[in-house]
Amino acid sequence: MAKPVLLTVDDDSDVLRAIERDLRSEYGADYRVIGSGSPEAALDLLKQLKARNDIVALLLADQRMPEMEGVMFLREGMQIFPDAKRALLTAYADTNAAISAINEANIHYFFMKPWDPPTEHLYPQLDDLLDDWRALYRPVFEGIRVLGTRWSPKSYELRDFLARNRVPYQWIDVELSANDPETKVVLQYLGPEAASLPVVLFPDGSRLLESVPAEVAQKVGLRTRAQTDFYDLAIVGGGPAGLAAAVYGASEGLKTVMIEKEAPGGQAGMSARIENYLGFPIGLSGGDLARRAVVQAQRFGVEILSPLEAVNLRTEGSYRFVRLADGNEISCHALMIATGVQWRRLEAPGVGRLQGAGVYYGGGAGDALSYKGETVYVVGGANSAGQAAINFAKHAERVVIVVRGSSLSSTMSQYLIDQIKQTPNIQIWAHASVAEVHGETHLEEISFLCSDTNKLERVQATAMFIFIGALPRTEWLANVLERDERGFILTGPDLIRDGQRPKGWSLERDPFLLETNVPGIFAVGDVRHGSVKRVASGVGEGSVAVQFIHQYLSKV
Ligand SMILES: Cc1cc2nc3c(=O)[nH]c(=O)nc-3n(C[C@H](O)[C@H](O)[C@H](O)COP(=O)(O)OP(=O)(O)OC[C@H]3O[C@@H](n4cnc5c(N)ncnc54)[C@H](O)[C@@H]3O)c2cc1C
Repeated sequence: MAKPVLLTVDDDSDVLRAIERDLRSEYGADYRVIGSGSPEAALDLLKQLKARNDIVALLLADQRMPEMEGVMFLREGMQIFPDAKRALLTAYADTNAAISAINEANIHYFFMKPWDPPTEHLYPQLDDLLDDWRALYRPVFEGIRVLGTRWSPKSYELRDFLARNRVPYQWIDVELSANDPETKVVLQYLGPEAASLPVVLFPDGSRLLESVPAEVAQKVGLRTRAQTDFYDLAIVGGGPAGLAAAVYGASEGLKTVMIEKEAPGGQAGMSARIENYLGFPIGLSGGDLARRAVVQAQRFGVEILSPLEAVNLRTEGSYRFVRLADGNEISCHALMIATGVQWRRLEAPGVGRLQGAGVYYGGGAGDALSYKGETVYVVGGANSAGQAAINFAKHAERVVIVVRGSSLSSTMSQYLIDQIKQTPNIQIWAHASVAEVHGETHLEEISFLCSDTNKLERVQATAMFIFIGALPRTEWLANVLERDERGFILTGPDLIRDGQRPKGWSLERDPFLLETNVPGIFAVGDVRHGSVKRVASGVGEGSVAVQFIHQYLSKV
């Protein structure tokens, strides 16, 4: 396959030569560097590249060009290669223009001229952009193919699993693409096996029938077996809090394992765009954050076991034992519970039956494309619902946010409310709640109870995404750890009642800030009683807890 292109445009021939030289020396082995002195000519070139089925990874344009401003060029270039990363070269005096360009034209980065030394001011940022591009870029498809139907909960579960674990796959809806010649060939080849959906076809020619995530995980090389049975630090839960703890623990020399039952990233992995995480002025997707954190954790030697669920906890002296869903047990000196929260179930007739067949909890960033031209109902009024609605609105014809209250103002952040107001295909349906969902094999209609009129309204629908708050799933810890009435784990000062340390506490000190009622077992992130439910606070707690773990381990 031809190398992807890095295209740079600058009307100043000296600058163009310099940037071409720097790009070539660093990226020439993996990319084809092309320079152009004119934005118009560069746009023509992009069209030619498109026609030849070439790939462009980066568009890098000078902002001040007499023929056409860099921002304008990038905007036009984006129409031709929407997935290419877009960056501006600016003079210091143009910084403000560059910042507003980021907002207006979806530009990923701006570089200051001069960029010397490139090892500091050019390559690290470009590495980041190109890593991102590579992560999302799908070359001519050579990976696994999943055959299923849109309304099958099993197919949905498998696709969700693959997407959240960032395993590239090609989806073939055997009903929708029944007339597609390629699909016909595959179905003929499978014969009667084609009835055992979802079917997964692997590049080595093997296949799995009625595939479930655990089998596919093994086949694609996700690790589900621990290498050893003892660790300094075991972390249950691979959301932002668990990942932060893993990075800090392993980078500071602790033999660390992280156990995750679905996919690293946790709830944050479902967020289409996190805009309030420090250091990412244009936001980043939860999937991106998770991918970066996983690479970072693996670099420090963290063992990540996923998908694998922790189902039981027991202690013996200073050892803590975690039983896993596959029947194995691992032990550790220090244990971190970072299991976050899970969506609250919506209690209405039909919801359970049609879950995965038009009715979904949460909604991954990757779901939006499936609803091109359709109406999507988003139930709930908090930030997660707002983000999802904005994401769906990019492809759906109409998105309806259904809320019990009179508006979003008391439940959603103002920046999301503002974005929603500016998105014409999002509507708010206030004073409404789901009374029942209808459909034989998949969602066909929803009945809403409107509290202002006290009437039921029945609407046609193919997709409903539920975001109605979340609760911790900590029943498996009930016999060992103290929890509040809703199941959140108590830590630190919350465990001291009337000046007394928790029952069974044997040490001559109070529990550390994030420590539970069992020494050496910590709880961080959303699962902790009183936690702030944010990515940054989960990351902060996961990182800080490692310091307490060092103190704990120094006395074990
Ligand atoms: C759609 C959406 C958008 C959001 N947007 C933002 C935002 O823009 N900004 C922001 O700051 N916050 C946002 N949040 C909130 C933020 O994602 C959470 O506060 C954060 O993810 C909490 O991190 P955590 O690690 O504590 O838990 P989680 O992210 O919930 O991760 C917990 C992990 O533990 C795993 N797990 C649970 N039980 C077990 C078990 N028994 N064994 C093994 N693994 C287990 C789960 O599978 C999960 O992966 C958003 C949340 C959602 C759902």
